[in-house]
Amino acid sequence: MKGNLTVLGLGAMGSAVAHRLRSAGYHVTVWNRTAAKTRPHTAAGAHAAPTVAAAADAGDLVFVVLLDHATVREHLDPAAAHLRGKVVVNLVTTTPGQARDTAAWAAEHGIAYLDGAVMAVPSMIGTPEARLLYSGDENAYAIARTALEALGTTEYTGTDPGLAALKDMALLSAMDLMLMGYLQAIALMRTAGTTAADTAAEVEAWLAAMLPHGKEIAAIVDGGTYDTGGQSVDFDRHGLASLITASREQGVSAALLEPHQRLLDELAAAGHGDSDWPRIIDRLTVPQ
Ligand code: NDP
Repeated sequence: MKGNLTVLGLGAMGSAVAHRLRSAGYHVTVWNRTAAKTRPHTAAGAHAAPTVAAAADAGDLVFVVLLDHATVREHLDPAAAHLRGKVVVNLVTTTPGQARDTAAWAAEHGIAYLDGAVMAVPSMIGTPEARLLYSGDENAYAIARTALEALGTTEYTGTDPGLAALKDMALLSAMDLMLMGYLQAIALMRTAGTTAADTAAEVEAWLAAMLPHGKEIAAIVDGGTYDTGGQSVDFDRHGLASLITASREQGVSAALLEPHQRLLDELAAAGHGDSDWPRIIDRLTVPQ
């Protein structure tokens, strides 16, 4: 056996993590609110603990794979004394602020804390395609690293415990907006009887061709002058107005497109109609 690990939470992700760690040669102790979910794990050789405290006592490294931040604090706070001196790896999806909050709590209780973000679905756990981001206590990362590598490709993003969550939220935001784009396209093409499957295939090919241009957008933002002479705010406003009109003509809501138009209109009203359109990022930066 390589060492004693604990996994708190046996939902879809926690179960995948526990199975993978056990098959990688660790002695795994599991705890789950609904105890029946521990059965497949004990049948496969894991140990089931009756309480979070007992589970924490059993592992040197404690993985937390509960539902959300509130659930984490609900169950970890009362077990703080049992976690003292251990490494806690929190794989629960949180905001950067929640990650920093748990890290501060852990520091108060002498717990080495790593905040994790899983860029994968459960079936990918244990493969190199599963990307897991970590931030927080650097020494905890060094201690946990071998076990973390059993779960997928690991990336340490820095000592600020909120960094992994920040990157997670940034990537998920990009995904969310992109997938809304799929639905807008599908809604439009459905008015001509095209199936969602056919439109999705078209969108996939189109976006694949467009994605490399993201680097050009990034270069404009990093340059910060918005005067490269490429597509301007006014050009984009006209293009977007056509998308919105076309949606309405087809009886499709333009609700997903209208916020983009509002941001461009604000820029034009502020005298930036000639600027490169990525200047829109100025409208996304809310003064603190
Ligand atoms: P599930 O809904 O499958 O499992 C949720 C887990 O949290 C279960 O163990 C559940 O226990 C437990 N739980 C929920 N509420 C409570 C509570 N009040 N007290 C104690 N335990 C509670 O979720 P996943 O396993 O899919 O997700 C776990 C984390 O992993 C989430 O933060 C999620 O965002 C993240 N994640 C998941 C991915 C995925 O594709 N599934 C991808 C990337 C991240 P019980 O069995 O008793 O209900």
